Amino acid sequence: MTFYRSITTNAPSGGVSYEKLDIDLSEFEVRLKPVLTGICGTDRGIVNGALPFAYNPHGSQKLVIGHESLCIVTEAKDNDFGISKGDYVVPMVRRPGKCINCLAGRSDNCSDGDKHEAGITGLHGFMREEFGDSAEYLVKVPDPSIGDVAVLTEPLKNVCKAFEMFDVVSRKSIFTDTAGSYHEKKSLVIGTGSEAFLYALKSMDYGFNTFLTNRHDLDDTKNRLVDETKLNFYNYNTMDPFAKSGIDLVIDTSGDPGTIFKFVRKMNNNGIMILFGTNGKAPGTQVDGMDIDYVIERNISLIGSVDGSRIHYEKALQDLTRWKHQYGSSLDDMITARVSPDHTEIFTKKPSDEIKTVIDWS
Ligand code: NAP
Ligand code: ZN
Repeated sequence: MTFYRSITTNAPSGGVSYEKLDIDLSEFEVRLKPVLTGICGTDRGIVNGALPFAYNPHGSQKLVIGHESLCIVTEAKDNDFGISKGDYVVPMVRRPGKCINCLAGRSDNCSDGDKHEAGITGLHGFMREEFGDSAEYLVKVPDPSIGDVAVLTEPLKNVCKAFEMFDVVSRKSIFTDTAGSYHEKKSLVIGTGSEAFLYALKSMDYGFNTFLTNRHDLDDTKNRLVDETKLNFYNYNTMDPFAKSGIDLVIDTSGDPGTIFKFVRKMNNNGIMILFGTNGKAPGTQVDGMDIDYVIERNISLIGSVDGSRIHYEKALQDLTRWKHQYGSSLDDMITARVSPDHTEIFTKKPSDEIKTVIDWS
């Protein structure tokens, strides 16, 4: 019997401990050790018992949490995916069910909900000192010299999937400007967490005139990142840069219905809004007939987007490799704190200037 130190909870009631668990790794194709694991609102929600959809693996009283991970391969049997000892890899979160989308490698678009998510629903996650996996669920980091920012692959793959949705839906009309680019188009990202910054960088890649907004000013850490990456930030309670000309693409990471509908009425004809943030506890809001008319008369599309598949992990790694050259150490500044695995208070106390906190397993 071998015991591996793991960060666990009892889903969905919550709690967190750093303890030794006996999990048999002998059957796995690939053995891995984490290098860094990112912490996000989902991990904190599970630990705080706020996510009723989280559940333990079948027959287990514990769930190992963690779904944002950068790992090193310590052993690999022969496999069809080119994964070998010493590779840096990012494990995929969703594991397919049996629906047509899952069988086609697109469990992000699962049709019946019968998939699992590592560290969230019915499958142990990646916050443990060693674990095993199948090579088919590992995405190799093509250029390991990008270093620690590879831990942002998992959150960035969500962004890559959402922009795939943008690409599909924007074909409904001529969305580009008269030069055939997005340079004269405006995009707005609501929220200023890690996903919001990743959305904003991706939007700048497309060429959009990109804005980030929140209901308050930013702290020094986030202000520095805004300056270094040449983003535009404004506090929507004190400014309105869209009073005269509207917004073409809105991406919401707040999950707050009142805020979302405030910005729907600022959108241009043929505009697209991507709903990404989730907040089941946010208060409701009044939506009247004029809001609905506004959406219809202007051909506005509201799109929900969740998760991403292998292609989006691979795109995310390409983006991070390019951004590492473009933004240098500013990209590393997205990692605002590093803690050791036994520092379990981090799941209940979010640092005030957090963009991305990571657990360092070295
Ligand atoms: P996060 O750091 O909590 O980001 C949420 C952001 O929204 C924060 O910057 C927050 O600002 C801001 N916000 C909250 N209420 C707001 C309001 N009324 N107006 C403007 N901004 C507001 O979380 P994250 O990790 O970046 O993730 C963003 C969201 O996406 C979360 O809801 C998460 O659950 C969700 N998510 C969705 C998917 C998906 O596949 N769809 C995947 C991962 C995450 P303050 O911090 O100042 O409150
Ligand atoms: Zn499915």
